[in-house]
Amino acid sequence: MKGIEVGILGATGMVGQQFIALLANHPWFTVTWLGASQRSEGKAYRDAAAWRLPARPPDHVSKLIVEQASPGRAPKLVFSGLDASVAGDIERAFAEAGHVVVSNSRNYRMEPDVPLVIPEVNGDHLALVNTQAAGRGWKGRIVTNPNCSTIVLSMALAPLRQFGLKTVMLTTLQAVSGAGYPGVPSWDILGNVIPFIDGEEEKIQTETKKILGCLTSGRVEPHQVTVSATTTRVAVHDGHTESVSVGFDKSPEPDAIIDAFNSFRGRPQELGLPSAPPQPIVYLADRNRPQPALDVNRDGGMTVSVGRLRPCPVLDYKFIALGHNTIRGAAGAAILNAELMEREGLL
Ligand code: NAP
Repeated sequence: MKGIEVGILGATGMVGQQFIALLANHPWFTVTWLGASQRSEGKAYRDAAAWRLPARPPDHVSKLIVEQASPGRAPKLVFSGLDASVAGDIERAFAEAGHVVVSNSRNYRMEPDVPLVIPEVNGDHLALVNTQAAGRGWKGRIVTNPNCSTIVLSMALAPLRQFGLKTVMLTTLQAVSGAGYPGVPSWDILGNVIPFIDGEEEKIQTETKKILGCLTSGRVEPHQVTVSATTTRVAVHDGHTESVSVGFDKSPEPDAIIDAFNSFRGRPQELGLPSAPPQPIVYLADRNRPQPALDVNRDGGMTVSVGRLRPCPVLDYKFIALGHNTIRGAAGAAILNAELMEREGLL
């Protein structure tokens, strides 16, 4: 399995850096190509990226020359952490040229023939790539992972579908790393809460329904749940925290919900994929958890931590969910998607 070459589009950004860090010792994938903007093109990666992560990038990647973000020299499998303002055109050009693009950007997520996948929740939606290839005449494919807040929410909701999930209201407290680098000016974020993140609430409200939906006859039937989201940015490095209230058709006992969180498993755990956490959702019983400072890196940042389940006087229950936005919410999510695609023969 070793030695599948991969490229990274947007390699210099927050998500691009996380790809490089997570792939440093990956058993199947080796980074051999990097692409970014004209600002970085032609420079060695170590000079082009404002590296923000604790572990240094591997030597062979530091020395790679960042190339123009256009198809030609990149390997077949390309991860994308491109800015959404340019991802639409660039990712399409790569797919047309025969690349398999596994993307973090919002541009293609809601297209009916593009899989929007969390492998534990709806790995079966990857089958949409066949419709995509036939319909668009592309030699390659685009597969997407959801918005970072949506991933945390959808993972926490997936085990609750069995109780007739009807209504969800949430408020997010989102980390600064979610805004890329350099992101929000320190003057704006320190000692402050910003009650607006452009486009984020709409993404959570629409993407969640597609992810929790069912694939039937080559299309996704969205889940009937109604989602209302308020999003805020707070002065936290990494980790999106979400305060979630849920309403059900038939309200279960609290122990049934906790058991549903803790026993939730998916195809990645079944297959033992390299980036799969052993337990995708962990319920923390301490009344002051989860906290980003203590819980965000659980199992390499791939686990969603949940806590504080209690009755909600408006809906049925409320709880707190937390996930690492650039790992489970971005680069780690895309790598897990590619691992599942490899195992399912879709690469
Ligand atoms: P970022 O730090 O701003 O990085 C953006 C990347 O895009 C950089 O590598 C940049 O290259 C490249 N780029 C910009 N303009 C380009 C152009 N014209 N041609 C080629 N490359 C270009 O952003 P980020 O936080 O990593 O986010 C990347 C994507 O992932 C976005 O679509 C974002 O919405 C999504 N996402 C982010 C998170 C998160 O938590 N941060 C989570 C989920 C999804 P240069 O350095 O050369 O300018």
